[in-house]
Amino acid sequence: MRTLKNPEQLWSAIDSGSRIALIGHANPDGDAIGSVSAMYHFLKQTGKQASMIVPNCFPDFLSCLNPAADPILIYRNETETCRQVIADADLIISLDMSGPSRIDDMADAVFTDSRARKVLIDHHLSPVVEAYDIVISDTDVSSTCELLLSLILESDAIGGDISRLNLDCATSIAAGLLTDTNNFANSIFPSTLERFSQLLQRGVDRDYLYNEIFCSYSASRMELMGHLLSEKMTIIQDGTVAFIILDKADKEKYSFHTGDSEGFVNLPLKIRKIRMSALLTEDDGFVKVSLRSKGDLDVNRFAREYCNGGGHRNASGGRLYISIAETPDYFTNSIEDYFKKA
Ligand code: 5GP
Ligand code: MN
Repeated sequence: MRTLKNPEQLWSAIDSGSRIALIGHANPDGDAIGSVSAMYHFLKQTGKQASMIVPNCFPDFLSCLNPAADPILIYRNETETCRQVIADADLIISLDMSGPSRIDDMADAVFTDSRARKVLIDHHLSPVVEAYDIVISDTDVSSTCELLLSLILESDAIGGDISRLNLDCATSIAAGLLTDTNNFANSIFPSTLERFSQLLQRGVDRDYLYNEIFCSYSASRMELMGHLLSEKMTIIQDGTVAFIILDKADKEKYSFHTGDSEGFVNLPLKIRKIRMSALLTEDDGFVKVSLRSKGDLDVNRFAREYCNGGGHRNASGGRLYISIAETPDYFTNSIEDYFKKA
């Protein structure tokens, strides 16, 4: 599916917006933080001020993208300030999410209370188009950051000349590409490498970003990874599906911080026979589901049908409203059911 709408609508909305809020999804990843901060730096370059808000904390390894002068606001920590920013905004741009449900308890402030114009810029399947005034959606890209770079390059301010893009914006975009492709392991389109090449030409320091994002583990995070792989991974469905359980006891034992399990879901896919992998994480009131697959195995459908979620064919997620103790059985039965139907 490809529903890229006329970017002119976006630029004219930005031209007429005077108080702009940029919003990323809950449990923000590198593409969410990258696209929000890239848009912030681009707007700043063109003389526009914007505020950035995400529903809850982002991992420490993304702090390198958080502008010191204007830090990203965390709704859960600074609810009143965030609600005021949202109420004051005349333009709200949501990035890297398919719809309102991805911003959790921030959704009422953005979608019920606010009368601002609403824009969505995203690369997920099935965006909730009716929630927004302007939707720019393209699923044939690696990431929202890649889509955003294409849009920005076409803007009057940049006019196709990457050397005119400020380095902070370019660096934020590169971070989104690096993280959503898992360091160029998946979701690669021909355009992805072309865009990354342009970012390198612009002077983005890939080595710096690689070290910040992928080589900044704490010792306890590394120990948690070892523990989960050796003790908490279960292989089912004739050796083709693996799931890992991360419960609160292990979170506490290994001093878990937001983002510490980032990338763990990919690890079982290194086993030759494994075609699908899940990380099932105990959270407050729900179990967070993270899904990855190889080839044409569609985890988006699995996420929709069994996990109250969605995403992409090879990378999806959702939530289970059951206890962590019930989770292994529920997941195993769901997998059986899913493969029987397939
Ligand atoms: P992750 O496993 O990295 O948390 O999420 C992978 C992808 O799954 C995300 O990029 C997003 O597309 C999707 N996803 C994750 N959690 C949810 C969710 O709760 N609801 C929906 N609809 N999609 C999700
Ligand atoms: Mn993304």
